[in-house]
Amino acid sequence: MKRPTIPGKMVQSAARGFLTVALFVSIALTGFEVSQSMRRQSDEAREAGLSSAARIARELDLREQAVEALAATAEDILSGRLTTAETITPYLRAVPERAGFAMSAPPGYRAEDLGGLMGEGDPPVAGSEAAAEIDMAFALSEELKLVHGHDESLPWVYYISKRGFFYIFPRPPEGSFLWNHELLKRYDMLPGAAPLKLEGPRTGWSAVYSDTGGKGPMTTVSRLVEHHGQIAGDISVDVSVRTLAELLHDDRVPDSTLRLFDPTGADFLGGSRLPGGISIQEPHPSTPIRVGDVEVYILDVNPSGWHVGVVTSRRAMLWTALRQSSLHGLLVLFSLGSLILFVALTRALQLVESQSRHDALTGLYNRRHFDEVAEVAIAKARRGGTPVALLIVDVDHFKKYNDRLGHYAGDQALRDLATAVRGSLRRAGDGVFRLGGEEFAVLASVEDYDKLQQLGDKLCDAVRALGIVHEGSDLGHVSISVGATLVDAAHWVDMDKAYQAADKALYQAKSTGRDRAVVHRPAPIAQAV
Ligand code: GH3
Ligand code: MG
Ligand code: MG
Repeated sequence: MKRPTIPGKMVQSAARGFLTVALFVSIALTGFEVSQSMRRQSDEAREAGLSSAARIARELDLREQAVEALAATAEDILSGRLTTAETITPYLRAVPERAGFAMSAPPGYRAEDLGGLMGEGDPPVAGSEAAAEIDMAFALSEELKLVHGHDESLPWVYYISKRGFFYIFPRPPEGSFLWNHELLKRYDMLPGAAPLKLEGPRTGWSAVYSDTGGKGPMTTVSRLVEHHGQIAGDISVDVSVRTLAELLHDDRVPDSTLRLFDPTGADFLGGSRLPGGISIQEPHPSTPIRVGDVEVYILDVNPSGWHVGVVTSRRAMLWTALRQSSLHGLLVLFSLGSLILFVALTRALQLVESQSRHDALTGLYNRRHFDEVAEVAIAKARRGGTPVALLIVDVDHFKKYNDRLGHYAGDQALRDLATAVRGSLRRAGDGVFRLGGEEFAVLASVEDYDKLQQLGDKLCDAVRALGIVHEGSDLGHVSISVGATLVDAAHWVDMDKAYQAADKALYQAKSTGRDRAVVHRPAPIAQAV
């Protein structure tokens, strides 16, 4: 019966090659897909940033237009191109505890249509320039209310006069006095300070500051109001940064954060700075800056000098990409799994096959393998190849050895013997087999009978040299007897005959004193026929 065998080397390497190629192809496909997906995610994040930046720019632009329209009206009134309907001086009252004055509500107005007016020093007298400026500010009420509307992001809309008063919308709660002399410092308008110039841009955004009313970070857009070539004051609109920053949420994409930075590179919402000391002052709109795991686009919010930072974690993008490319990922896993399984299986089969050919005690080849190879080797020698020698080795008086020292010592002696016999063979292809018990066979390429005798003697010498004490033997040490024969083209010998011949020689070795090798020389074919 034919023994089942593992697939041949060619089949093995073809299968391994195929699986390896499949693995690399699927890795390449996944890699390509992942990199495409990461680029797409990065582009989406940038698009989100751009539309946020545009939205914030539009909001800021609307505020700028509002202060410009209000300032134009204020200038028209101051210059007399427009007239005012109300004279406010009768409604001004001193507030001695604050060394200032405030406006009481003129009759006939609804509270929600009025702003609050407060200033420092004595209330201006009727007919004075200061009184005319107060009338102008009051005349802005309707427009101030319109600009403010119900817009939560505009906590205050106001006119501040260089003379030291302001008209602020919406009207602060009754009894509160918001005027503060510091307000004049903010616009660098204190007497004696360098006068603000009217040339150049007259509208500007303040740095971000914290609102005294607790409404969070705030920025103010102001437009100077001119009268007779001098600065009279300015119209200002406060804008809540938090509300502006909320606009960023509408465009958010997964795995990235949109953040708003002022012209100095500080995060408006007080968030930590960007990793790796990335400077936000320089826009980086088309290619992201990469620092560690993070990539950042820096987009302009025109014309404020603000920036939207689009901060994305590359690791998070990678995971998203991997999740999206799950089909190719599965292919990678499948190919890898198959490859590992294939290699493990081949190894296991090789191990099983090797074990089926070896003897567990000595590690030599076993009887089964002897049966497989002996026939083939002898047939080859008979056809004219190198002659093959068959030597049968039997340990002398081994029963006694066991009886005296026990089986365990016997096993150890067998192992040492096996090593010594194997060590005596020099040629590749020579093999030692444990036939059973304390009996071994050697198949070796040997040219002639003299060489065979030498080999047999060499085996005996090797065992003798081990010097394993054997008190049950007359020799005092463990020895072997060897019976040998040579199979070559000149002799017509099959496996059974060769075995019988070697066995006969072994019997002779035993009966003539043991510890020796006896060679059986078969008759040539011509004589045998
Ligand atoms: P002779 O010189 O005539 O060959 O004498 P012998 O005692 O070696 O021959 P016999 O056939 O009477 O005994 C063989 C002994 O080998 C029997 C058994 O105790 C021992 N033996 C066989 N196989 C093993 C083995 O696997 N381990 C051990 N320790 N001993 C074994
Ligand atoms: Mg025996
Ligand atoms: Mg024996």
